[in-house]
Amino acid sequence: MIGLEETIPAFLKHLASLTSGHAVTLVAVSKTQSAERLRAAFNCGLTRFGENYVQEAIGKQALLHDLSIEWHFIGPLQSNKSKAVAEHFDWVHSIDRLKLAQRLSSQRPTNLDPLQVCIQVNVSGEESKSGVAPIEVLELAQSIQALPHLQLRGLMAIPEPSSDEKLLRSRFAQLRSLQSHLKQNGISIDTLSMGMSADFEIAIEEGATLIRVGSALFGSRAP
Ligand SMILES: *Cc1c(COP(=O)(O)O)cnc(C)c1O
Repeated sequence: MIGLEETIPAFLKHLASLTSGHAVTLVAVSKTQSAERLRAAFNCGLTRFGENYVQEAIGKQALLHDLSIEWHFIGPLQSNKSKAVAEHFDWVHSIDRLKLAQRLSSQRPTNLDPLQVCIQVNVSGEESKSGVAPIEVLELAQSIQALPHLQLRGLMAIPEPSSDEKLLRSRFAQLRSLQSHLKQNGISIDTLSMGMSADFEIAIEEGATLIRVGSALFGSRAP
C-alpha cells in the first residue's frame, strides 16, 4: 500500500507545475480502491472520483455519503445499468450511442441537476472498439443537446496504449480538433476528458481540460 499522504500532495504539486495558467480538473480513478482509501484521498484534497463498475461504486457511495464528492462514471455502460448511473452519478464520460443518452435523460431524477456527459470518441480507429467514430460525433452531439436532463460537456477518448509519443499526441489533437468542428457547427463544449497515468502530461500539452488518473495516485491495481 502506498501512503496517500505522500503521493497525492506530490501529484497535485506536479500537476500545478504543468498547468500554470489554465485549470485542469483531476478526476481520481478509484475503481478497485476501498471506501476507506477514498476517504483518505478525500482528506488529502481529492473531491472528484471516477468509477467503472456500477455496483462497486454504489456500495462506496453509501459508505461515503457524508462527504461532498462529485462522482464520475467512466467505464463502458450497459443499458440495463443506466438507471443506477442516472440516479447515482454527476457525470458520465462514456456515452457512445444515442439510445444510452436517451435512457439516461429519461431516468435522471428531476430533483437532481442535469447529468453532465461526454461523448466517448474512438480516436484509435480499428484498434479499439469503444467510442463513436469521429465522423459520427456531430450528429450524436446534436441529438444529446436536445435531451432535457443531460448537459453535453465534452468529448472523452482513451487512445490505445503506446510508447509512441507522437502517435498519442496525434490522438489527443484529434479530439481537440473535433471540439473545434463542433464549435463551427454551433455546439460549444468546455471539456476534453483525456489523459491517464501514463500519458496525462502529453494530454495536457494537447489541451486536456480534465484528466482521469488512477494508478499514479493510488498505486498499481491488482489485476
Ligand atoms: C482505469 C481508467 C483510468 C485510469 O487509469 P490509470 O492508468 O490507472 O491512470 C482512466 N480512464 C478510464 C476510462 C479508466 O477505465
